[in-house]
Amino acid sequence: MNTQHYIQQETNLHTHSYFCGHGTGTIAEYVAEAQKQGLKLLGFSEHCPVEDNRWNRSRMALEQMSIYEEDIANARVEASLPILTGYECDYLPQYRSYYQEIGARVDYLICAIHDLSLELEREYSLFWNTLTKDDLHRYADLYCQALSSGLFLFGAHPDVFAYNYHTWDKEAEACSRAIIECAVAMDVPLEINANGMRKRKVDTPLGQRYSYPISEFWQIAKTYPLKVVTNSDAHAPFEVNVGRKECFSFAAEAGLSFVSYELEGRNLKVVSS
Ligand SMILES: [Zn+2]
Ligand SMILES: [Zn+2]
Repeated sequence: MNTQHYIQQETNLHTHSYFCGHGTGTIAEYVAEAQKQGLKLLGFSEHCPVEDNRWNRSRMALEQMSIYEEDIANARVEASLPILTGYECDYLPQYRSYYQEIGARVDYLICAIHDLSLELEREYSLFWNTLTKDDLHRYADLYCQALSSGLFLFGAHPDVFAYNYHTWDKEAEACSRAIIECAVAMDVPLEINANGMRKRKVDTPLGQRYSYPISEFWQIAKTYPLKVVTNSDAHAPFEVNVGRKECFSFAAEAGLSFVSYELEGRNLKVVSS
């Protein structure tokens, strides 16, 4: 079968839609926009619902998963570029086999940590709370468990912990190093995410910066043989390729280079060159 090679500039694999409830746009609208904006490969990574309904405020209901997957299959028929089906999975160890089942059905899964609560009834979002030093350890621990599960194509916005943690201190460095070292050991790429660049800028003791990505994290990353990807994390069709240029300049400034993808049929692989 024909193998296609895609560099990061030609792809977006982190794409949401109206299905998650906090995004807009249908699958077909995203495909049309990706074609218009010249992308060569598009993957959908809607927030994955879980069986006990945890995090239900930020994702589709379980019953909608088949509609989401069908919408993508239908859009694929007419599209002029390959369209992949994926999910962005918030990781907790009890969902491992559930995600494994879904991963066997769809083209790829990515992982992220948006919430630090282990209790079902309580959410503790990284976006709504001021994080403590202990929270950073919890974040790194969960993120590393996700990377170590072997289920995910890449880890999304690993530095999102800094969204509400504005001091670069020993904990922030240790958290970053733990995640980067785990990604290198597991050979899983980490993502420079454009969505954090589109959010409000953050005032820190060291000056103003993006909500994420944060240069301190990627300065450490640079010292490791880490694989790096970048995506728009679009939550509206017009965003499908927005912020990418900024991500490429951010990476160039940090001295980082990107991996590519190889696609054979709908079988997607990360390749180094
Ligand atoms: Zn989202
Ligand atoms: Zn996302």
